Amino acid sequence: MAEPIRPERSGQLFERALRSIPGGVNSPVRAFRSVGGTPRFIAKGSGAYLWDVDGRRYLDFVGSWGPLILGHARPEILAALERVMADGTSFGAPTEAEVVLAETILAAFPGMDQVRLVNSGTEATMSAIRLARAHTGRSLLVKFAGCYHGHSDSLLVKAGSGAATLGVPDSLGVTAAVSGQTLILPFNDGEALAEAFAARGGEIAAVIVEPFPGNMGLVLPHPGYLEELRRLTAASGAALIFDEVITGFRVAYGGVQTLYGIEPDLTCLGKIIGGGLPVGAYGGKRELMALLAPEGPVYQAGTLSGNPLAVAAGLTTLRLLQELQPYPELAQRTAAFAAELRALFERAGIPATVNQAESLFTVFFNPGPVVDYESASRSDRERYARFFHAMLERGFYFSPGQFETCFLSTAHGSADLEQALSAVRDALPELGGR
Ligand SMILES: *Cc1c(COP(=O)(O)O)cnc(C)c1O
Repeated sequence: MAEPIRPERSGQLFERALRSIPGGVNSPVRAFRSVGGTPRFIAKGSGAYLWDVDGRRYLDFVGSWGPLILGHARPEILAALERVMADGTSFGAPTEAEVVLAETILAAFPGMDQVRLVNSGTEATMSAIRLARAHTGRSLLVKFAGCYHGHSDSLLVKAGSGAATLGVPDSLGVTAAVSGQTLILPFNDGEALAEAFAARGGEIAAVIVEPFPGNMGLVLPHPGYLEELRRLTAASGAALIFDEVITGFRVAYGGVQTLYGIEPDLTCLGKIIGGGLPVGAYGGKRELMALLAPEGPVYQAGTLSGNPLAVAAGLTTLRLLQELQPYPELAQRTAAFAAELRALFERAGIPATVNQAESLFTVFFNPGPVVDYESASRSDRERYARFFHAMLERGFYFSPGQFETCFLSTAHGSADLEQALSAVRDALPELGGR
């Protein structure tokens, strides 16, 4: 596919990176494998924009994969980091700010009695599953095809995100003994769910779900589906784990569970609660959380857990979100943008589905509807790659992979979005539009 302008410094850095780092990147999607071309090395970000090392500016629709709901280099967050940093970067002992962040998270999630901070979303989901297994004394885990919950062994079975993009839904190195404990169901399929519970309900320790899946591209639950999930898990004594690592403070202050009024047993968080620094958290009902060491027999620990810098960035982000209440405007702006995209593709005769919820959206080149991994997989990924590069050349950084979500931030103004729409209009002929 066409990539006429060779990004010189990015290209040189990538060649160097390939020698010292596997695939040249520290997380696979960054390598642009599914869209081709040379990944841009980023020099800085500010507001809604990124600048690469070749001095080119991009309107950023990735936002570090979700954390940056307030945009890049938000001054209040930088100021909080500077303040905290002057007193040291890590103590390996408790601090007041951790308690405040825990209290702030609990206040946002009515069904959550206690929360433990960790360093990544991967740690959060892995630990939540351990807890659910300990609580139920069962081992079977139910997950949905195309949902991604980080890269721990039992969850790398039909994962979305980079794993789906790379076409390796099952990672080598995961033993059959481990993957055999994970039952995969299609998302949004009430019948498959009912059958699984009828057949093996008594063995199921937990069901883990992204309530708005964002790692097969954005997919939304059918009406009543999450409620049915809550009903079946409660009836069989399995724990319901909502992985709200993306959605937690993204779709509402309090996540999908607040939007829908559903209380899961455990919730996993990450991304926004770290304000752009490495973080994760999991929390839930007291009877489950009380099993954790040092109170109980389930072990989980972290040298840098509750790190002062991550906590300061997260807390500042959550305070700003409370203060600004940006959700209605973000949702309105993203919905309007998605509607314009749909209209442009339709007029050009390009089969496309644009899924959108709040400040999340994904462009699928597929007539749709896209409701699960199967329908997401029917997208024209070659056309997505052309779309991605056509936009990148014009200074717009969309997700470098079909099976990812794009994100708006409060820094994305209407003029920015107008420019993005003009660029899409301009690029339509390159996508095979009329
Ligand atoms: C990003 C993500 C994770 C993993 O979080 P990391 O911090 O990358 O380990 C888990 N679940 C979901 C839904 C995610 O989007």
